[in-house]
Amino acid sequence: MYDLIVIGGGPAGITAAAIAINQRLETLIIAERWGGQMTYEMQLEDMAGQEVITGESLLDAFRRQLEYLEFARHFDRVTKVAPEESSFLVETADGDRFQARALIIATGAKPQRLNVPGEERLVGRGLSYSAVTHAGLFLGKDVAVVGNGRRAQWAAASLARKAHRVYLLAPEPLVATPLASKLRRMENVTLVEGVTVQEVLGSQYVEGLRVRMPDGGEQEIPVKGVFVKLARVPNSQLVRGWIDCDEQGHIIVDVYCATSWPGVFAAGDVTLVSEQVLVHIGEGAKAALSAYHYLLMQG
Ligand SMILES: Cc1cc2nc3c(=O)[nH]c(=O)nc-3n(C[C@H](O)[C@H](O)[C@H](O)COP(=O)(O)OP(=O)(O)OC[C@H]3O[C@@H](n4cnc5c(N)ncnc54)[C@H](O)[C@@H]3O)c2cc1C
Repeated sequence: MYDLIVIGGGPAGITAAAIAINQRLETLIIAERWGGQMTYEMQLEDMAGQEVITGESLLDAFRRQLEYLEFARHFDRVTKVAPEESSFLVETADGDRFQARALIIATGAKPQRLNVPGEERLVGRGLSYSAVTHAGLFLGKDVAVVGNGRRAQWAAASLARKAHRVYLLAPEPLVATPLASKLRRMENVTLVEGVTVQEVLGSQYVEGLRVRMPDGGEQEIPVKGVFVKLARVPNSQLVRGWIDCDEQGHIIVDVYCATSWPGVFAAGDVTLVSEQVLVHIGEGAKAALSAYHYLLMQG
């Protein structure tokens, strides 16, 4: 019986496991694979070597600690999580079964990609998935945000304060939020609803987007930056049904990362908390300490 099982090997899970191990909790981290390992650097034509602090180096330190502690990690897909009388059962695809007194769910969310030509090649060369990380690099430039939900709207509003012009390209009508009506009135925001992105243009750096407009016609939109902010699906299937989730499937947590089920904590993209490595390092640490406090109280 473990004290704590952490499910997920991204920034939230890795940090949570490292902090729990430092508190000498009997901890196991189970992950399909280490997540959160991409490079989030952004290189722009006129801005070589601009440093963006993403938390990756801090995360690397936690990850190295876990790689050294081989007994504390297990690579497999978790297929079932179930509450038992005073513990939780965790089953994996290979048929392994583990038990723990507390759980941290840090399974992330399915990434949102355009899946069009040019996207993969131009990531980090004008194409970003994180406005929080990269918006500040696009001062005075023309940029596009692709998406129609809360995250796209937030990114567009944030970019509108920095960029020259923001094209908000929404595949579907904007989700009705207070920010949506504000965006419709902003002078440097061009909103097109019902648009499909077909290609990210540019040889070395992003130079534009080729899109299909709502009337069916094709158009090229010249921009130096593209922010992909499509809807993401949280990986919360393991606990949906017995732990409270919102309509989109985000696990609902309180300020201590506690879920609706005592002894189960959640952190990272699987919750509604802002999707950023730096933030999730903090959330993972918080979840681990909350689980530790919970276990102390259980005696
Ligand atoms: C393409 C892309 C670019 C990004 N760019 C930036 C950026 O520039 N700056 C920034 O701050 N953020 C960026 N982000 C966001 C950032 O990567 C996420 O916010 C962060 O990784 C979320 O951390 P997490 O720990 O919640 O989940 P993740 O990093 O998604 O990790 C989830 C973990 O759970 C595991 N898992 C899931 N289901 C199971 C299961 N059933 N059993 C076992 N394991 C499971 C996965 O294998 C993985 O290890 C980007 C994200 C993407 C997709």
